[in-house]
Amino acid sequence: MSSWDPKYEPVIGLEVHAQLLTQSKAFCGCSTNFGAEPNSNVCPVCLGLPGVLPVLNLSLVDYVIRMGLATHCSIAPRSIFARKNYFYPDLPKGYQISQYEEPICSGGFVEIELEDGLRKRIGLTRIHMEEDAGKLIHDIDVDTLVDVNRCGIPLIEIVSEPEIRSPHEAYLYLAKIRQIVTYLGICDGNMEEGSLRCDANVSVRLSGESELGTKTEVKNMNSFRFVEKALEYEIGRQIGLIESGEKVVQETLLWDSGQGIAVPMRSKEEAHDYRYFPDPDLIPVIVTKEWIENMSTTLPEDPTARRDRFVAEFKIPKYDADLLTAEKPLADYFEGVITNLKTKNEENYKLASNWTMGDVLRVVNTEKILLVDFPVAPAHLAEMINMIVDGTISGKIAKDVFEEMLKTKEPPRAVVERKGLLQVSDTAALEGIVDQVLKQNAVQVAEFLGGKTQLFGFLVGESMKATKGKGNPKIVNELLRKKLEELKK
Ligand code: ADP
Ligand code: MG
Ligand code: ZN
Repeated sequence: MSSWDPKYEPVIGLEVHAQLLTQSKAFCGCSTNFGAEPNSNVCPVCLGLPGVLPVLNLSLVDYVIRMGLATHCSIAPRSIFARKNYFYPDLPKGYQISQYEEPICSGGFVEIELEDGLRKRIGLTRIHMEEDAGKLIHDIDVDTLVDVNRCGIPLIEIVSEPEIRSPHEAYLYLAKIRQIVTYLGICDGNMEEGSLRCDANVSVRLSGESELGTKTEVKNMNSFRFVEKALEYEIGRQIGLIESGEKVVQETLLWDSGQGIAVPMRSKEEAHDYRYFPDPDLIPVIVTKEWIENMSTTLPEDPTARRDRFVAEFKIPKYDADLLTAEKPLADYFEGVITNLKTKNEENYKLASNWTMGDVLRVVNTEKILLVDFPVAPAHLAEMINMIVDGTISGKIAKDVFEEMLKTKEPPRAVVERKGLLQVSDTAALEGIVDQVLKQNAVQVAEFLGGKTQLFGFLVGESMKATKGKGNPKIVNELLRKKLEELKK
Protein backbone atom coordinates (compact mmCIF):
# COMPACT_ATOMS: atom_id res chain seq x y z
CA MET A 1 0.00 0.00 0.00
CA SER A 2 2.71 2.47 0.96
CA SER A 3 4.75 3.86 -1.86
CA TRP A 4 8.11 3.83 -0.08
CA ASP A 5 10.78 1.23 0.61
CA PRO A 6 9.79 -0.73 3.77
CA LYS A 7 13.41 -0.42 4.85
CA TYR A 8 12.34 3.05 6.06
CA GLU A 9 9.83 3.94 8.72
CA PRO A 10 7.99 7.27 8.71
CA VAL A 11 7.47 9.05 12.03
CA ILE A 12 4.68 11.60 12.19
CA GLY A 13 3.42 13.95 14.89
CA LEU A 14 0.47 16.29 14.28
CA GLU A 15 -0.34 19.68 15.72
CA VAL A 16 -4.05 20.34 15.30
CA HIS A 17 -5.71 23.68 15.93
CA ALA A 18 -9.44 23.68 16.58
CA GLN A 19 -11.41 26.90 16.55
CA LEU A 20 -13.87 26.85 19.42
CA LEU A 21 -17.55 27.63 19.07
CA THR A 22 -17.80 30.00 22.02
CA GLN A 23 -20.12 33.01 21.70
CA SER A 24 -17.41 35.52 22.49
CA LYS A 25 -13.65 35.77 22.08
CA ALA A 26 -11.03 34.31 24.41
CA PHE A 27 -10.10 37.44 26.36
CA CYS A 28 -12.72 40.07 25.51
CA GLY A 29 -16.47 40.29 24.95
CA CYS A 30 -16.30 40.60 21.15
CA SER A 31 -18.51 38.32 19.11
CA THR A 32 -16.99 35.33 17.34
CA ASN A 33 -19.68 35.52 14.68
CA PHE A 34 -18.20 34.32 11.40
CA GLY A 35 -18.83 36.37 8.26
CA ALA A 36 -19.31 39.72 10.01
CA GLU A 37 -18.19 42.88 8.23
CA PRO A 38 -14.34 42.88 8.22
CA ASN A 39 -12.81 44.58 11.28
CA SER A 40 -16.19 45.01 12.99
CA ASN A 41 -15.83 42.40 15.76
CA VAL A 42 -13.01 44.21 17.52
CA CYS A 43 -12.28 46.13 20.70
CA PRO A 44 -9.22 47.65 22.39
CA VAL A 45 -8.41 44.29 24.03
CA CYS A 46 -8.27 42.13 20.90
CA LEU A 47 -6.62 44.97 18.99
CA GLY A 48 -3.94 45.10 21.67
CA LEU A 49 -4.29 48.81 22.39
CA PRO A 50 -2.25 49.97 25.41
CA GLY A 51 -3.84 50.29 28.81
CA VAL A 52 -6.43 47.52 28.55
CA LEU A 53 -6.47 44.15 30.25
CA PRO A 54 -7.59 40.77 28.93
CA VAL A 55 -10.14 38.76 30.92
CA LEU A 56 -10.33 35.02 30.37
CA ASN A 57 -13.57 33.68 28.88
CA LEU A 58 -14.45 30.76 31.17
CA SER A 59 -16.30 28.95 28.36
CA LEU A 60 -12.92 28.44 26.75
CA VAL A 61 -11.76 26.59 29.85
CA ASP A 62 -15.00 24.55 29.91
CA TYR A 63 -14.38 23.50 26.32
CA VAL A 64 -10.73 22.55 26.75
CA ILE A 65 -11.50 20.59 29.93
CA ARG A 66 -14.18 18.64 28.05
CA MET A 67 -11.72 17.94 25.23
CA GLY A 68 -9.10 16.87 27.73
CA LEU A 69 -11.51 14.50 29.46
CA ALA A 70 -12.72 13.04 26.15
CA THR A 71 -9.10 12.26 25.23
CA HIS A 72 -8.06 10.87 28.63
CA CYS A 73 -5.71 13.74 29.50
CA SER A 74 -4.85 14.84 32.97
CA ILE A 75 -6.16 18.31 33.68
CA ALA A 76 -3.70 20.56 35.46
CA PRO A 77 -5.11 22.16 38.62
CA ARG A 78 -3.05 25.22 37.74
CA SER A 79 -1.94 26.37 34.33
CA ILE A 80 -0.66 29.66 33.00
CA PHE A 81 -0.79 31.76 29.86
CA ALA A 82 2.31 32.81 27.98
CA ARG A 83 3.06 35.39 25.34
CA LYS A 84 4.36 34.07 22.06
CA ASN A 85 6.03 37.03 20.41
CA TYR A 86 6.20 37.53 16.70
CA PHE A 87 5.79 40.37 14.30
CA TYR A 88 3.34 39.96 11.45
CA PRO A 89 0.54 42.17 10.11
CA ASP A 90 -2.18 39.69 11.16
CA LEU A 91 -1.28 40.21 14.82
CA PRO A 92 -1.70 43.84 15.96
CA LYS A 93 -0.64 43.06 19.57
CA GLY A 94 2.75 41.74 18.46
CA TYR A 95 2.22 38.60 20.51
CA GLN A 96 -0.24 35.76 20.70
CA ILE A 97 -1.61 34.65 24.06
CA SER A 98 -0.91 30.93 24.31
CA GLN A 99 0.23 28.37 26.84
CA TYR A 100 3.79 27.15 26.89
CA GLU A 101 5.34 25.72 29.99
CA GLU A 102 2.23 24.80 31.93
CA PRO A 103 -0.51 23.73 29.52
CA ILE A 104 -3.93 22.81 30.88
CA CYS A 105 -4.09 19.25 29.48
CA SER A 106 -1.38 16.66 29.03
CA GLY A 107 -0.72 12.99 28.60
CA GLY A 108 -3.90 11.73 26.96
CA PHE A 109 -4.49 9.59 23.93
CA VAL A 110 -6.76 9.12 20.94
CA GLU A 111 -7.63 5.69 19.67
CA ILE A 112 -7.70 4.96 15.95
CA GLU A 113 -8.94 1.81 14.29
CA LEU A 114 -6.75 0.26 11.62
CA GLU A 115 -8.11 -1.71 8.68
CA ASP A 116 -7.58 -5.08 10.34
CA GLY A 117 -9.78 -3.97 13.25
CA LEU A 118 -6.75 -3.42 15.48
CA ARG A 119 -7.01 -0.39 17.72
CA LYS A 120 -3.99 1.83 18.17
CA ARG A 121 -3.51 4.56 20.70
CA ILE A 122 -1.80 7.77 19.63
CA GLY A 123 -0.45 9.62 22.64
CA LEU A 124 -1.20 13.28 23.17
CA THR A 125 1.65 15.39 24.47
CA ARG A 126 -0.60 18.27 25.42
CA ILE A 127 -3.69 20.29 24.65
CA HIS A 128 -3.44 23.98 25.35
CA MET A 129 -5.50 27.13 24.98
CA GLU A 130 -4.56 30.03 22.77
CA GLU A 131 -6.01 32.81 20.67
CA ASP A 132 -6.20 33.03 16.90
CA ALA A 133 -4.57 35.74 14.78
CA GLY A 134 -6.25 37.84 12.09
CA LYS A 135 -6.59 37.08 8.42
CA LEU A 136 -4.68 38.54 5.50
CA ILE A 137 -6.58 38.80 2.26
CA HIS A 138 -4.32 39.04 -0.74
CA ASP A 139 -6.29 41.14 -3.15
CA ILE A 140 -4.88 41.52 -6.66
CA ASP A 141 -6.13 45.07 -7.10
CA VAL A 142 -5.42 46.69 -3.75
CA ASP A 143 -2.51 44.70 -2.38
CA THR A 144 -3.01 42.96 0.94
CA LEU A 145 -6.00 43.61 3.18
CA VAL A 146 -6.13 42.85 6.89
CA ASP A 147 -9.23 41.57 8.70
CA VAL A 148 -8.68 41.33 12.44
CA ASN A 149 -12.10 39.89 13.32
CA ARG A 150 -10.40 36.55 13.93
CA CYS A 151 -7.91 38.04 16.42
CA GLY A 152 -8.68 36.62 19.83
CA ILE A 153 -11.00 33.82 18.66
CA PRO A 154 -10.33 30.92 21.04
CA LEU A 155 -8.39 27.91 19.81
CA ILE A 156 -7.14 24.74 21.34
CA GLU A 157 -3.96 23.17 20.04
CA ILE A 158 -3.77 19.40 20.26
CA VAL A 159 -0.20 18.11 19.99
CA SER A 160 0.37 14.42 19.35
CA GLU A 161 3.39 12.36 20.27
CA PRO A 162 5.45 11.25 17.25
CA GLU A 163 3.59 7.93 17.24
CA ILE A 164 1.83 8.05 13.89
CA ARG A 165 3.48 5.70 11.44
CA SER A 166 1.88 6.34 8.05
CA PRO A 167 -0.04 9.02 6.16
CA HIS A 168 -3.13 6.86 6.47
CA GLU A 169 -2.78 6.67 10.25
CA ALA A 170 -2.47 10.46 10.21
CA TYR A 171 -5.73 10.60 8.27
CA LEU A 172 -7.47 8.29 10.74
CA TYR A 173 -6.12 10.29 13.69
CA LEU A 174 -7.40 13.55 12.23
CA ALA A 175 -10.78 12.04 11.44
CA LYS A 176 -11.00 10.86 15.06
CA ILE A 177 -10.07 14.30 16.40
CA ARG A 178 -12.71 15.81 14.16
CA GLN A 179 -15.29 13.30 15.37
CA ILE A 180 -14.46 14.02 19.01
CA VAL A 181 -14.62 17.83 18.73
CA THR A 182 -17.87 17.72 16.78
CA TYR A 183 -19.43 15.23 19.23
CA LEU A 184 -18.46 17.58 22.04
CA GLY A 185 -19.92 20.46 20.05
CA ILE A 186 -16.83 22.58 20.76
CA CYS A 187 -15.74 23.04 17.11
CA ASP A 188 -17.54 22.62 13.81
CA GLY A 189 -14.65 20.53 12.47
CA ASN A 190 -14.61 22.18 9.08
CA MET A 191 -11.12 21.82 7.65
CA GLU A 192 -11.93 23.47 4.32
CA GLU A 193 -13.02 26.63 6.12
CA GLY A 194 -10.11 26.50 8.55
CA SER A 195 -11.95 25.79 11.80
CA LEU A 196 -9.75 22.72 12.05
CA ARG A 197 -6.13 23.15 10.94
CA CYS A 198 -3.31 20.69 10.92
CA ASP A 199 0.47 21.06 10.80
CA ALA A 200 2.21 17.78 10.10
CA ASN A 201 5.68 17.02 11.47
CA VAL A 202 7.40 14.17 9.71
CA SER A 203 10.73 12.40 9.65
CA VAL A 204 11.94 9.04 8.41
CA ARG A 205 14.38 6.55 9.88
CA LEU A 206 15.58 3.05 9.14
CA SER A 207 13.04 0.50 10.34
CA GLY A 208 14.08 -0.79 13.74
CA GLU A 209 16.00 2.36 14.57
CA SER A 210 14.97 4.01 17.85
CA GLU A 211 16.42 7.50 17.36
CA LEU A 212 14.22 10.05 15.63
CA GLY A 213 15.35 11.49 12.32
CA THR A 214 15.40 15.18 11.44
CA LYS A 215 11.85 16.38 10.94
CA THR A 216 10.23 18.84 8.64
CA GLU A 217 6.90 20.53 9.26
CA VAL A 218 4.30 20.67 6.48
CA LYS A 219 1.58 23.30 6.63
CA ASN A 220 -1.22 24.60 4.46
CA MET A 221 -3.30 21.47 3.92
CA ASN A 222 -6.98 22.30 4.05
CA SER A 223 -8.46 18.84 3.79
CA PHE A 224 -7.87 15.40 5.30
CA ARG A 225 -6.87 14.04 1.89
CA PHE A 226 -4.30 16.78 1.43
CA VAL A 227 -2.71 15.89 4.76
CA GLU A 228 -2.40 12.30 3.58
CA LYS A 229 -1.06 13.35 0.17
CA ALA A 230 1.38 15.91 1.56
CA LEU A 231 2.80 13.32 3.96
CA GLU A 232 3.17 10.76 1.15
CA TYR A 233 5.02 13.36 -0.85
CA GLU A 234 7.28 14.46 2.00
CA ILE A 235 8.16 10.92 3.09
CA GLY A 236 9.14 10.12 -0.49
CA ARG A 237 11.25 13.26 -0.71
CA GLN A 238 13.07 12.60 2.57
CA ILE A 239 13.84 9.00 1.62
CA GLY A 240 15.09 10.23 -1.76
CA LEU A 241 17.47 12.63 -0.01
CA ILE A 242 18.82 9.96 2.32
CA GLU A 243 19.21 7.43 -0.49
CA SER A 244 21.30 9.88 -2.49
CA GLY A 245 23.53 10.53 0.49
CA GLU A 246 22.10 13.91 1.38
CA LYS A 247 20.67 15.13 4.67
CA VAL A 248 17.15 16.21 5.57
CA VAL A 249 17.17 19.85 6.58
CA GLN A 250 14.83 20.89 9.37
CA GLU A 251 12.46 23.36 7.78
CA THR A 252 8.84 24.34 7.30
CA LEU A 253 7.20 23.45 4.00
CA LEU A 254 3.99 24.67 2.45
CA TRP A 255 1.81 22.17 0.64
CA ASP A 256 0.87 23.28 -2.87
CA SER A 257 -2.21 21.23 -3.68
CA GLY A 258 -2.28 22.42 -7.29
CA GLN A 259 1.17 21.05 -8.04
CA GLY A 260 1.09 18.23 -5.50
CA ILE A 261 4.39 19.30 -3.94
CA ALA A 262 5.58 20.90 -0.70
CA VAL A 263 7.80 23.97 -1.02
CA PRO A 264 10.09 25.35 1.70
CA MET A 265 8.68 28.28 3.64
CA ARG A 266 11.56 29.22 5.86
CA SER A 267 14.72 27.52 6.99
CA LYS A 268 15.83 26.92 10.56
CA GLU A 269 18.13 29.95 10.40
CA GLU A 270 15.23 32.27 9.78
CA ALA A 271 12.94 30.47 12.20
CA HIS A 272 11.20 32.65 14.75
CA ASP A 273 12.46 33.02 18.22
CA TYR A 274 9.15 33.43 19.96
CA ARG A 275 10.68 34.60 23.27
CA TYR A 276 7.90 32.97 25.24
CA PHE A 277 7.30 34.37 28.70
CA PRO A 278 4.41 34.19 31.17
CA ASP A 279 1.73 36.76 30.37
CA PRO A 280 1.78 39.24 33.28
CA ASP A 281 -1.74 40.41 32.47
CA LEU A 282 -3.43 37.07 33.11
CA ILE A 283 -3.72 35.23 36.39
CA PRO A 284 -3.14 31.46 36.50
CA VAL A 285 -6.09 29.25 35.56
CA ILE A 286 -7.14 27.30 38.62
CA VAL A 287 -9.27 24.28 37.83
CA THR A 288 -11.00 22.72 40.81
CA LYS A 289 -12.04 19.09 41.15
CA GLU A 290 -15.67 20.24 41.13
CA TRP A 291 -15.17 22.03 37.83
CA ILE A 292 -13.76 18.87 36.26
CA GLU A 293 -16.55 16.71 37.71
CA ASN A 294 -19.10 19.18 36.48
CA MET A 295 -17.67 19.06 32.97
CA SER A 296 -17.48 15.28 32.96
CA THR A 297 -21.26 15.11 33.44
CA THR A 298 -21.69 17.08 30.20
CA LEU A 299 -19.66 14.66 28.07
CA PRO A 300 -21.55 12.86 25.32
CA GLU A 301 -21.18 9.14 24.88
CA ASP A 302 -17.85 8.41 23.22
CA PRO A 303 -18.43 7.85 19.48
CA THR A 304 -16.61 4.51 19.39
CA ALA A 305 -18.46 3.30 22.47
CA ARG A 306 -21.70 4.37 20.85
CA ARG A 307 -20.80 2.51 17.65
CA ASP A 308 -20.12 -0.65 19.65
CA ARG A 309 -23.37 -0.22 21.58
CA PHE A 310 -25.36 0.13 18.35
CA VAL A 311 -23.95 -3.21 17.19
CA ALA A 312 -24.61 -4.91 20.53
CA GLU A 313 -28.00 -3.39 21.30
CA PHE A 314 -29.62 -3.13 17.87
CA LYS A 315 -27.79 -6.02 16.21
CA ILE A 316 -27.07 -3.89 13.15
CA PRO A 317 -23.94 -4.61 11.07
CA LYS A 318 -20.73 -2.82 12.11
CA TYR A 319 -20.77 -1.11 8.72
CA ASP A 320 -24.15 0.46 9.52
CA ALA A 321 -23.09 1.42 13.05
CA ASP A 322 -19.89 3.07 11.80
CA LEU A 323 -21.80 5.16 9.33
CA LEU A 324 -24.60 6.03 11.73
CA THR A 325 -22.23 7.20 14.47
CA ALA A 326 -19.84 9.12 12.20
CA GLU A 327 -21.60 12.33 13.16
CA LYS A 328 -23.49 12.90 16.38
CA PRO A 329 -26.62 14.44 14.80
CA LEU A 330 -27.02 11.36 12.63
CA ALA A 331 -26.56 8.98 15.56
CA ASP A 332 -29.09 11.04 17.53
CA TYR A 333 -31.52 10.93 14.60
CA PHE A 334 -31.21 7.16 14.29
CA GLU A 335 -31.77 6.65 18.01
CA GLY A 336 -34.77 8.98 17.76
CA VAL A 337 -36.24 6.67 15.14
CA ILE A 338 -35.49 3.57 17.23
CA THR A 339 -37.17 5.09 20.31
CA ASN A 340 -40.39 5.57 18.37
CA LEU A 341 -40.61 2.11 16.82
CA LYS A 342 -43.71 0.29 18.00
CA THR A 343 -42.22 -3.17 17.84
CA LYS A 344 -38.63 -3.23 18.93
CA ASN A 345 -36.93 -6.13 17.23
CA GLU A 346 -33.88 -6.78 15.09
CA GLU A 347 -35.81 -6.68 11.85
CA ASN A 348 -37.26 -3.26 12.57
CA TYR A 349 -33.93 -1.89 13.81
CA LYS A 350 -32.43 -2.86 10.48
CA LEU A 351 -35.33 -1.17 8.66
CA ALA A 352 -34.65 1.98 10.68
CA SER A 353 -30.96 1.73 9.84
CA ASN A 354 -31.66 1.25 6.12
CA TRP A 355 -34.00 4.22 5.94
CA THR A 356 -31.60 6.44 7.89
CA MET A 357 -28.46 5.45 6.00
CA GLY A 358 -30.19 5.36 2.65
CA ASP A 359 -33.04 7.78 2.23
CA VAL A 360 -32.25 10.26 4.98
CA LEU A 361 -28.53 10.53 4.24
CA ARG A 362 -29.12 10.74 0.51
CA VAL A 363 -31.31 13.82 0.94
CA VAL A 364 -28.97 15.34 3.54
CA ASN A 365 -26.05 14.96 1.15
CA THR A 366 -27.69 16.01 -2.08
CA GLU A 367 -29.63 18.92 -0.57
CA LYS A 368 -26.73 19.89 1.73
CA ILE A 369 -29.03 20.37 4.69
CA LEU A 370 -28.19 19.88 8.34
CA LEU A 371 -29.86 16.98 10.09
CA VAL A 372 -31.26 19.32 12.73
CA ASP A 373 -33.21 20.98 9.92
CA PHE A 374 -34.30 17.70 8.33
CA PRO A 375 -37.97 17.97 7.37
CA VAL A 376 -38.86 14.40 8.37
CA ALA A 377 -38.69 14.17 12.15
CA PRO A 378 -37.31 10.90 13.57
CA ALA A 379 -40.71 10.20 15.16
CA HIS A 380 -42.39 10.57 11.76
CA LEU A 381 -39.94 8.22 10.07
CA ALA A 382 -40.51 5.72 12.88
CA GLU A 383 -44.28 6.02 12.46
CA MET A 384 -43.88 5.37 8.75
CA ILE A 385 -41.81 2.26 9.47
CA ASN A 386 -44.50 1.15 11.93
CA MET A 387 -47.04 1.51 9.11
CA ILE A 388 -44.93 -0.65 6.80
CA VAL A 389 -44.52 -3.27 9.51
CA ASP A 390 -48.25 -3.48 10.31
CA GLY A 391 -49.18 -3.58 6.62
CA THR A 392 -50.89 -0.18 6.46
CA ILE A 393 -48.67 0.76 3.54
CA SER A 394 -46.33 -1.19 1.30
CA GLY A 395 -42.59 -0.59 1.29
CA LYS A 396 -42.93 0.78 -2.21
CA ILE A 397 -45.65 3.27 -1.29
CA ALA A 398 -43.52 4.25 1.71
CA LYS A 399 -40.99 5.75 -0.71
CA ASP A 400 -43.72 8.08 -2.02
CA VAL A 401 -44.90 8.87 1.49
CA PHE A 402 -41.31 9.76 2.45
CA GLU A 403 -40.97 12.09 -0.54
CA GLU A 404 -44.21 13.79 0.44
CA MET A 405 -43.15 14.16 4.07
CA LEU A 406 -39.95 15.83 2.86
CA LYS A 407 -42.05 18.40 1.07
CA THR A 408 -44.78 19.02 3.63
CA LYS A 409 -43.34 17.88 7.01
CA GLU A 410 -46.67 16.13 7.66
CA PRO A 411 -46.88 12.99 9.75
CA PRO A 412 -47.02 9.91 7.51
CA ARG A 413 -50.60 9.03 8.48
CA ALA A 414 -51.78 12.43 7.25
CA VAL A 415 -49.99 11.93 3.92
CA VAL A 416 -51.44 8.45 3.48
CA GLU A 417 -54.96 9.66 4.21
CA ARG A 418 -54.74 12.78 2.08
CA LYS A 419 -53.33 10.92 -0.92
CA GLY A 420 -55.37 7.75 -0.47
CA LEU A 421 -52.30 5.57 -0.23
CA LEU A 422 -53.59 2.99 2.21
CA GLN A 423 -52.50 -0.46 1.27
CA VAL A 424 -55.36 -2.54 -0.12
CA SER A 425 -55.57 -5.75 1.89
CA ASP A 426 -59.21 -6.29 1.06
CA THR A 427 -59.11 -9.73 -0.55
CA ALA A 428 -62.38 -9.32 -2.44
CA ALA A 429 -61.22 -6.07 -4.04
CA LEU A 430 -57.86 -7.53 -4.95
CA GLU A 431 -59.44 -10.70 -6.34
CA GLY A 432 -61.35 -8.67 -8.90
CA ILE A 433 -58.14 -6.96 -10.02
CA VAL A 434 -56.20 -10.23 -10.25
CA ASP A 435 -58.97 -11.81 -12.33
CA GLN A 436 -58.82 -8.83 -14.66
CA VAL A 437 -55.04 -9.13 -15.03
CA LEU A 438 -55.24 -12.85 -15.77
CA LYS A 439 -57.82 -12.18 -18.44
CA GLN A 440 -55.78 -9.41 -20.06
CA ASN A 441 -52.62 -11.53 -20.13
CA ALA A 442 -54.08 -14.77 -21.46
CA VAL A 443 -51.00 -15.50 -23.58
CA GLN A 444 -48.60 -15.30 -20.61
CA VAL A 445 -51.01 -17.30 -18.46
CA ALA A 446 -51.08 -20.07 -21.07
CA GLU A 447 -47.27 -20.05 -21.24
CA PHE A 448 -47.07 -20.15 -17.45
CA LEU A 449 -49.39 -23.14 -17.36
CA GLY A 450 -47.25 -24.68 -20.10
CA GLY A 451 -44.25 -24.63 -17.77
CA LYS A 452 -42.74 -21.12 -18.04
CA THR A 453 -42.96 -20.64 -14.29
CA GLN A 454 -40.77 -17.55 -14.31
CA LEU A 455 -43.75 -15.67 -15.73
CA PHE A 456 -45.22 -15.66 -12.24
CA GLY A 457 -43.15 -12.61 -11.39
CA PHE A 458 -44.44 -10.84 -14.46
CA LEU A 459 -48.04 -11.52 -13.44
CA VAL A 460 -47.35 -10.25 -9.91
CA GLY A 461 -45.87 -7.09 -11.41
CA GLU A 462 -48.88 -6.53 -13.68
CA SER A 463 -51.28 -7.08 -10.77
CA MET A 464 -49.40 -4.67 -8.53
CA LYS A 465 -49.39 -2.13 -11.33
CA ALA A 466 -53.13 -2.57 -11.67
CA THR A 467 -53.51 -1.74 -7.93
CA LYS A 468 -51.38 1.37 -8.50
CA GLY A 469 -48.84 -0.12 -6.11
CA LYS A 470 -51.31 -0.13 -3.25
CA GLY A 471 -52.16 -3.83 -3.25
CA ASN A 472 -50.80 -5.80 -0.34
CA PRO A 473 -48.09 -7.76 -2.18
CA LYS A 474 -48.45 -10.75 0.08
CA ILE A 475 -52.17 -11.09 -0.61
CA VAL A 476 -51.73 -10.40 -4.32
CA ASN A 477 -49.14 -13.19 -4.43
CA GLU A 478 -51.39 -15.63 -2.62
CA LEU A 479 -54.38 -14.81 -4.82
CA LEU A 480 -52.40 -15.26 -8.02
CA ARG A 481 -50.99 -18.55 -6.86
CA LYS A 482 -54.43 -19.79 -5.94
CA LYS A 483 -56.02 -18.68 -9.23
CA LEU A 484 -53.27 -20.18 -11.38
CA GLU A 485 -53.48 -23.41 -9.40
CA GLU A 486 -57.20 -23.51 -10.15
CA LEU A 487 -56.58 -22.84 -13.86
CA LYS A 488 -54.12 -25.74 -13.97
CA LYS A 489 -56.84 -28.21 -13.03
P1 ADP B 1 8.75 22.14 17.64
O1 ADP B 1 9.46 22.67 18.81
O2 ADP B 1 9.51 22.15 16.37
O3 ADP B 1 7.36 22.67 17.51
P2 ADP B 1 7.87 19.89 19.14
O4 ADP B 1 8.82 19.08 19.91
O5 ADP B 1 7.00 20.87 19.85
O6 ADP B 1 8.62 20.57 17.94
O7 ADP B 1 6.92 18.88 18.40
C1 ADP B 1 5.96 19.30 17.51
C2 ADP B 1 5.32 18.09 16.87
O8 ADP B 1 6.30 17.38 16.11
C3 ADP B 1 4.78 17.08 17.84
O9 ADP B 1 3.54 16.61 17.34
C4 ADP B 1 5.81 15.98 17.87
O10 ADP B 1 5.21 14.72 18.09
C5 ADP B 1 6.35 16.02 16.47
N1 ADP B 1 7.74 15.59 16.36
C6 ADP B 1 8.78 15.94 17.17
N2 ADP B 1 9.93 15.37 16.72
C7 ADP B 1 9.62 14.68 15.61
C8 ADP B 1 10.37 13.89 14.68
N3 ADP B 1 11.67 13.73 14.80
N4 ADP B 1 9.71 13.32 13.66
C9 ADP B 1 8.39 13.49 13.50
N5 ADP B 1 7.64 14.22 14.33
C10 ADP B 1 8.24 14.81 15.37
MG1 MG C 1 5.50 23.29 17.27
ZN1 ZN D 1 -12.38 42.29 21.40
